[in-house]
Amino acid sequence: MKNICVYCGSNPGRIEAYADGARALAKALVDRGLGLVYGGASVGIMGLMADSVLQLGGRAVGVIPEALKQKEIEHKGLSELHVTKSMHERKTLMAELSDGFIALPGGVGTLEEIFEIWTWAQLGFHAKPCGLLNVAGYYDTLTTFLDHTVAEQFVKPAHRSTLMVEHAPDTLLDRFASYQPPTVHKWIEKSGT
Ligand code: AMP
Repeated sequence: MKNICVYCGSNPGRIEAYADGARALAKALVDRGLGLVYGGASVGIMGLMADSVLQLGGRAVGVIPEALKQKEIEHKGLSELHVTKSMHERKTLMAELSDGFIALPGGVGTLEEIFEIWTWAQLGFHAKPCGLLNVAGYYDTLTTFLDHTVAEQFVKPAHRSTLMVEHAPDTLLDRFASYQPPTVHKWIEKSGT
């Protein structure tokens, strides 16, 4: 693994613990020689994540769509900043540049991004690990709901378990390093086939 994509909020969140979680993840990435790929903004947890990686001497690559460049105040001090024509192009490039995907606490954008890339894993479009860094229990209720999707038989246990959920960045990155994609496929067998 060379680069990890981190999806995270464009807001800082209610408590300082979320920023602490981003700093801890930044340190774990830099300690392992892993580069950061993220949405390229200078605001909220996004900006803090990039600042922390850069301050520790790491590499931070941003990918931002032209339309959000002004609104989100792109980060001016990144190792690289890619400006894309669309949101779809942004997400595709972030996926191509990265060897694994982590969501820190964030809002609807963060949730959409991690769910999309996790969906692609479930469909076998890529074989890269996906996880939630459950800072201050932010993802506890989502984890409970995901278990409910399995109980109600809309998601297979083998697919549910591919979205790793950990409190500690090092534990999550250790699990990423030994990740094996599921061999169970998504499709329901047609009877008689
Ligand atoms: P948020 O978690 O909502 O603060 O957003 C974090 C990141 O997700 C930002 O880089 C946003 O540009 C991005 N984002 C927000 N809404 C969407 C969306 N509908 N689809 C894809 N990305 C989004």
